Amino acid sequence: MTLADAYALATLTGTLMLAVGWCIGRYHRRTDASRAERVARPPGPHPAAVADELALALAALATSCCLTAAVTAGAEHDPAHCTRKDQTL
Ligand SMILES: [Zn+2]
Repeated sequence: MTLADAYALATLTGTLMLAVGWCIGRYHRRTDASRAERVARPPGPHPAAVADELALALAALATSCCLTAAVTAGAEHDPAHCTRKDQTL
């Protein structure tokens, strides 16, 4: 092994160790943040949040052309029940 090979190997090893360290640190930062968020959250269901989600879902259902479009956010439609006039299905 030449000196250049040893230098290249040391550089590669150092770079890999930095990348591994960065990944481990990122994992710990993310788990610490999610743990802190979970601790700060009040226990039990959140009625206001559930009511908001239900209101949004009902509004999406009321304004959609068919149930399939409401469920798939407009990506798909049920040709048998869709009220959309410009259907190309
Ligand atoms: Zn539809």
